[in-house]
Amino acid sequence: MEQNMHLPEDLKPVIDFHGHFCPGVLIGWRASKLALKLLGVGRDRDEELVAITENDACGVDAVQYVLGCTFGKGNLVFRDYGKQAFTVFRRSDGKGVRLVLKAPGRELTREESARRLLEESDEALFSVGEPKEPMPERAVIRTSAYCDACGERAMETRIRTMEDGRRLCVPCAEIG
Ligand SMILES: [Zn+2]
Ligand SMILES: [Zn+2]
Repeated sequence: MEQNMHLPEDLKPVIDFHGHFCPGVLIGWRASKLALKLLGVGRDRDEELVAITENDACGVDAVQYVLGCTFGKGNLVFRDYGKQAFTVFRRSDGKGVRLVLKAPGRELTREESARRLLEESDEALFSVGEPKEPMPERAVIRTSAYCDACGERAMETRIRTMEDGRRLCVPCAEIG
């Protein structure tokens, strides 16, 4: 699909990271760049950002690549809402923005959708609003505990105490 499209230089490494070219990765790329612009943060910043993504689709790879917000670092939070919405906070002062992809006027083909995401203005693509939830806490080092059923270690915060007093990990608690 990208053969007959002009791709900006800064998009190419994002596509490499994601593994293929698709409209989804473009959504995350545009949203991430807009968030940087709105928060006044450059790509080579020391500034720490934290992102909340309301979907787990292709665009999240661009969020990880462009914003440096990753699950491993604990500054990427996933809300399973199935929305093309991304909230980004600047840690230093807690300023945040929530960007929601606007629906196009009509159904678009994949190619039209990709073109729209490459060519349209930020204003045409996203509604910008206030975050819907507070800035997530900084990742803390959590203690772990042993599950009374399987004996494996799990983060203390994920261990559940059952009615009979046993302390179980999530999968064991679900079996009961
Ligand atoms: Zn994709
Ligand atoms: Zn267990």
